[in-house]
Amino acid sequence: MPQDVLLGKSLPELTDWIETTGQPAYRGKQLYNWLYQKGIHDLSEITVFPKAWREQMGTYPVGRSQIHHQRTAPDGTRKYLLQLHDGLIIETVGIPTEKRLTVCVSSQVGCAMACDFCATGKSGFTRHLQAHEIVDQVLTVQEDFQQRVSHVVFMGMGEPLANLEQVLKSIQSLNQDIGIGQRSLTVSTVGVPDQIRTLAQQNLQITLAVSLHAPNQVLRESIIPTAVHYPIEDLLDECREYVAITRRRLSFEYILLAGVNDLPDHAAELAKKLKGFQSHVNLIPYNPITEVPFQRPGKKRINVFKQILQDHKIAVSVRYSKGLEADAACGQLRSNLRRSAPATVK
Ligand code: SAH
Repeated sequence: MPQDVLLGKSLPELTDWIETTGQPAYRGKQLYNWLYQKGIHDLSEITVFPKAWREQMGTYPVGRSQIHHQRTAPDGTRKYLLQLHDGLIIETVGIPTEKRLTVCVSSQVGCAMACDFCATGKSGFTRHLQAHEIVDQVLTVQEDFQQRVSHVVFMGMGEPLANLEQVLKSIQSLNQDIGIGQRSLTVSTVGVPDQIRTLAQQNLQITLAVSLHAPNQVLRESIIPTAVHYPIEDLLDECREYVAITRRRLSFEYILLAGVNDLPDHAAELAKKLKGFQSHVNLIPYNPITEVPFQRPGKKRINVFKQILQDHKIAVSVRYSKGLEADAACGQLRSNLRRSAPATVK
């Protein structure tokens, strides 16, 4: 059952709600600030409100999760397992880099896409997250680091475009209520038919990242089971439409799996496919997960792949994952905990 909570509501909605509790409308703005700026977990914390009201409303659900587990990697990346109101667990990662604090948020509990190389995909799909459960992840990291979050990437558990309505609501709230610029928000998708087009029509300035991972349909299908229903040419056509409608360049993510999709021929084929596309390719060396036999290619091989793309005038960079020591790769902390302490992780 979706939970009706305060987090995720806009200022007018909070103002309407506060009036139903017998308070004057101006307290809506106060509630809004305490919710999104001070990050309260509980209404009794709002010291500017009358004591009787706080006592009466103290248990009303605000919509904040609890930190179930937390781990910090030597590079400063912090990985969290957050417990939701129904006891389910999601992952969130806080990544501090010079001047930035990026949060990697989950959009679903589990994921139905079942990509072969992804730990989350191995655990199956449980449910969609509500918008406030996405906003909560950002507030939690902000509070823990005592630093404003500057960037959010939808690269945690789940497929954001399979939960587009709630993801869009969360983007609106992150932008308007928390004040994160749209250009600092990135949605990553493996592709869900027609949803990239729908996203393009929202008139947003966000960045879209598409997990391509292969230069042709046969290879793509062999590592991404859902690609069977979505031919690579259709996906790329929708991406072209996205660029035409939004006039924004998009990124393609390409995980490098040794001997599977990292050969020079694959690079040349990819370059041909993306010729003339307003895009940027992010090569992501595979983060080993225990469930599958894939391997990460060596540096030399990664550089050869990159050089071939560059020789074809394709903008490319290599993205090494942060916080590997904290199992920060997609779904890893949750699945590793599940193995070592099954009772604590649903
Ligand atoms: N479902 C979305 C977003 C979540 S995954 C998507 O597929 O884009 C975010 C990125 O991490 C994706 O590019 C995904 O392919 C990549 N990823 C998943 N498992 C990985 C692993 N073991 N090593 C490296 N990258 C991985």
